[in-house]
Amino acid sequence: MEIRLLGTGAADGIPSFYGNDEVSRYARQHGGKDIRTRSAALIDGHLKIDFPPDTLNQVQRDRLNPRDWTGVVFTHGHDDHFARRELQYALFPFTEMLYMPYPIYANPNICRSVEEAYPNWPIETVPTRSFHAFPHLDYTITPIQARHKEDEDSQNLIIQRGDKTLVYATDTGIWPHETFDFIGAYSVDVLVIECTDGLRKGTYLGHLDIEACVGMVHALRTMGVLHSQSRVITTHHAAKGGARHADLERALGKHRMEPGYDGMVITF
Ligand SMILES: [Zn+2]
Ligand SMILES: [Zn+2]
Repeated sequence: MEIRLLGTGAADGIPSFYGNDEVSRYARQHGGKDIRTRSAALIDGHLKIDFPPDTLNQVQRDRLNPRDWTGVVFTHGHDDHFARRELQYALFPFTEMLYMPYPIYANPNICRSVEEAYPNWPIETVPTRSFHAFPHLDYTITPIQARHKEDEDSQNLIIQRGDKTLVYATDTGIWPHETFDFIGAYSVDVLVIECTDGLRKGTYLGHLDIEACVGMVHALRTMGVLHSQSRVITTHHAAKGGARHADLERALGKHRMEPGYDGMVITF
């Protein structure tokens, strides 16, 4: 399996939209891995996770063709993950296509929002629920409940193909105990997990700082969900977290974790 991190920034990216903080200033000056667009990923070149407002920029940067996509899975409905107006460009009159070329898998709120924005458009929406697996081609995708945007079923994703298991966990706070109980049955090869608040002690329970992120990973190692060969990669970094990419490498490296970056490809 392969996961490509298309974006690894939090809601306002890095450099943050209007940010004049140290991390944003450093990123403007140095570029490279310190430039972070809004979080999204692509599995095996065709299974898309989330649709942020930076999607066009990401496909142009990595020279991808969205016609290759076979499905789009949404984690939750925040604007940095669900830019619903961007979906229209798949269809007539922008293209000759009369049907959306892929189904949209998402919680019922997002499905409803797509249907409201595009009444009678040929878009297939498939409502998903935490802890209920669904198939897509030869994948089994199992949403698990995040502690985030609590007015909807915010989901992290267990994605399995063959004997490989990936968990994509953004956005999430520290999981509720139901999620820890549920994931206890899995052996995970790659975990991509948010580390939004970095070095800053976050007060919002729906996101993780480095300490909380390391705590989650430690718990999953103790449970045996993460094994000795598992890779742990972070995403959804905010400039307000006060950590440049090099700072994250230092802080996370001690715990056998790696900061993700835009364009990173992990094959396993
Ligand atoms: Zn987000
Ligand atoms: Zn969010």
